[in-house]
Amino acid sequence: MSDLPIRSYETLPATFSPWDPRTVDVAAGLARLLGSARHGTVVHHVGSSAVPGLPGKNVVDLAVEADPDAIPAITEAAVSLGFAPQDGIAFFGPARPLLRGTVIHEATPFRVHLHVMPPARRELPELLGFRDALRADHALRDAYAEAKRRIVEDAPDGDANGLYTVRKSHFVEEALYRLRLRLPPADAPVPLAPGSTIGILGGGQLGRMLGFAARAMGYRIVALDPDPACPTAAVADEIVVGRYDDADAARRLGAMSDVVTYELEHVGLAAAEAAAAGAPLRPGLAALAATQDRLAERRFIRSIGEWTAPWREVRGVAEAEAAADALGLPMRLKSPVGGYDGRSQVRVVSLEGIAAGAAALGGLDGRPLLAEAEIDYEAELSVVCARDRDGRVLAYPMSRNVHDAGVLAESVAPAPVHPLVAHDARAIADSVARGLDLVGVMTVELFQLRGGGLMINELAPRVHNSGHWTIEGAATSQFEQHLRAILGLPLGSVEPHGVAAMTNLLGTGMDRPARLAGLDAALADPGVHVHVYGKRRVFERRKMGHVTVVGRDADEALARARRAHDALSWEG
Ligand code: ADP
Ligand code: MG
Repeated sequence: MSDLPIRSYETLPATFSPWDPRTVDVAAGLARLLGSARHGTVVHHVGSSAVPGLPGKNVVDLAVEADPDAIPAITEAAVSLGFAPQDGIAFFGPARPLLRGTVIHEATPFRVHLHVMPPARRELPELLGFRDALRADHALRDAYAEAKRRIVEDAPDGDANGLYTVRKSHFVEEALYRLRLRLPPADAPVPLAPGSTIGILGGGQLGRMLGFAARAMGYRIVALDPDPACPTAAVADEIVVGRYDDADAARRLGAMSDVVTYELEHVGLAAAEAAAAGAPLRPGLAALAATQDRLAERRFIRSIGEWTAPWREVRGVAEAEAAADALGLPMRLKSPVGGYDGRSQVRVVSLEGIAAGAAALGGLDGRPLLAEAEIDYEAELSVVCARDRDGRVLAYPMSRNVHDAGVLAESVAPAPVHPLVAHDARAIADSVARGLDLVGVMTVELFQLRGGGLMINELAPRVHNSGHWTIEGAATSQFEQHLRAILGLPLGSVEPHGVAAMTNLLGTGMDRPARLAGLDAALADPGVHVHVYGKRRVFERRKMGHVTVVGRDADEALARARRAHDALSWEG
């Protein structure tokens, strides 16, 4: 290697050049260098430049697999050599960094991408497997070269660089499935015929909307809920009355079902397990366990190389104060379990506020809490996706969400974001869904940072409020999609019909019988759809229904949805 150290990276338009054998020497030199900068680091040469004869950008891709705990030290070693973490849009977070630099070799600059990833992501075996398949199979190599050439040539004004990755990922993913480097779910469902019974743990509005979709396709529904008059009752063949942690009731539900799913992640694990004794539970127990406890969720996210707001597990006021010191203020304190719609969390703005905040969450005596830095985000986004029986992940266009005191107020989809942000979100959803070995629909709530990168806020292994727009706004609703996935049927198209806006209809005032006023006025706009969940009683901030409008653009659809929303009120 001639001129080390590594120089700063330059983003250049994608090119399509013959394979340069010197990339192999650059990779070998850098492997030695990184191996001595941090002893024992094993560096693999991956990507197109590792495949003799494959034309492309001649960027030298290197990959290192490392435990999450070792990743910061490897990052530091790479930075000490002159590498810099990528930032901006499609920013790889610190749990799976992409470090970039330029090396001069034989008076030629070679751009280098150093990918560092944890083993749970199972990415290195894919990178090596794809590389080896390209080396061994010249027909595959030539097909890949042709696909890459077309992407570069078709790009407007030679600006293929950003979209290059997006557009070639389809080819790569299909190859990974064909080569069996990506596998179907461990519990791959086989098709269940109409007439079969779907058991749902939980009988709220999500169960109700799943029920509508199930009825339309000719399936039967049974649901577990403490309230026999729950929203799902209207569409269920039977309600098994019991609490969400009632294992006996859940066992009865499982025995009546051909497949069991859940509409909330706050069902007891023992109850879910009891239901699973009678019929396959989809998504499975692992997905439930990893998402119903915020601390377990944070650990899972880190293990697969995605990232969240900086966080600490704290027990006691002293630890919470130390966390505030490390994370900065304002900070959020969250109960690990049982929180939804902004409940079970407090915003702490001063050290003095910690004790009061902790008390509001039921005290800190020995119980762990999640302390989390407050993120000054650009926008909240979410991506709803489904993973099918073959393991492929299909994501709806993202929605941009606005919350009011922790409760979703409105969503717009497709979110008006840069195509690279959409690609990034899709890639995050894909890695989470595979990490959970998901079968069904799942939602990833994201913070879009001001620099453009995406950070995970929360996971929900289920249909989601921010996906309600898909009922009128997409070719297949999230509810039908979830059923197709858990029933072992092919997924439906996620194509949007236009731009959809959804506003939540929340309760107001004190607890009283629910009577909606203003429907006539709300429906004066013929493009307005009002959904009412059939809850008998209304109270402040309770989710009672929602309004959807599919329009031409975000502003127009949102204005119409808000107008309809504001025409509605609760009597009394
Ligand atoms: P829930 O289970 O109630 O949905 P979330 O953790 O998603 O809990 O919090 C609800 C909302 O509160 C988020 O959608 C976001 O608006 C806000 N919020 C939560 N955590 C943070 C944070 N660390 N920084 C900034 N806003 C946050
Ligand atoms: Mg949330």
